[in-house]
Amino acid sequence: MPELPEVETTRRGLEPVLVGQRIRTAVVRNRRLRLPVPRRLPQLLAGATVRSLSRRGKYLLIDCGAGALIVHLGMSGRLWVVNGATPPTAHDHFDLVLESGTVVRLRDPRRFGLVLWQAGDPLSHALLAAIGPEPLSPKFDGAALHAATRSRNTAIKLALMDSHVVAGVGNIYANEALFRAGISPRIAAKRLTREHCDRLARAIRETLELAIVAGGSSLRDYVRSDGMAGNYQSQFTVYDRAGEACQRCGARIRGIRQGQRSTYYCPKCQKA
Ligand SMILES: [Zn+2]
Repeated sequence: MPELPEVETTRRGLEPVLVGQRIRTAVVRNRRLRLPVPRRLPQLLAGATVRSLSRRGKYLLIDCGAGALIVHLGMSGRLWVVNGATPPTAHDHFDLVLESGTVVRLRDPRRFGLVLWQAGDPLSHALLAAIGPEPLSPKFDGAALHAATRSRNTAIKLALMDSHVVAGVGNIYANEALFRAGISPRIAAKRLTREHCDRLARAIRETLELAIVAGGSSLRDYVRSDGMAGNYQSQFTVYDRAGEACQRCGARIRGIRQGQRSTYYCPKCQKA
């Protein structure tokens, strides 16, 4: 599932392709994504010029002046750049066609993605309004994480994956950041001290930044907008490494289930 680094990598790849370009039209081949794709998108987008491409959590926001196209990659979505002559396949549900003939295409086999329109400010959309701080912004630090977890009895790993606590951190990077910080994924969020939270907020930022530099992680469907794979998966320290030796201490990495998701951690290095 694409997490923040994969979405940010997509954003950086598409920014030079999209910004400043005029949109010829949009092609909706299948409206049945997680929410229906608006029928009037082709009319709303035709003739608009893309002003900016930004990201909030795992949402991409394509500012078209009068409003914004909001895209979420869901479980299996990818956005990539093709030329207008490239024939669509069964899972190519949406195209943004530029005046130049270049096409930004959404492929989403599992159809948990979203393509929505918000008039005016996209951050006012109901799906975006309640999202917590961006982990790479100055607003997210140990103090913010400490404040956000005081009443949370849930395990810290599950709290990190809750977008109200911090935006865009999913299963892979929650596992990796907790290892980097030396904090057990099982500790109740509200039991973390301020010092733990300082360490963890820093570890989240460092983990995400390293993953973005590597172009994200390519597991299953995700590829960069130029069709190339990301390669952060080769740097995973604990994720999907159950039974392997910890790179730091040599103990066996343990795999457990938390909230129907796989958790991986080193029982020696992650004692807090
Ligand atoms: Zn270890």
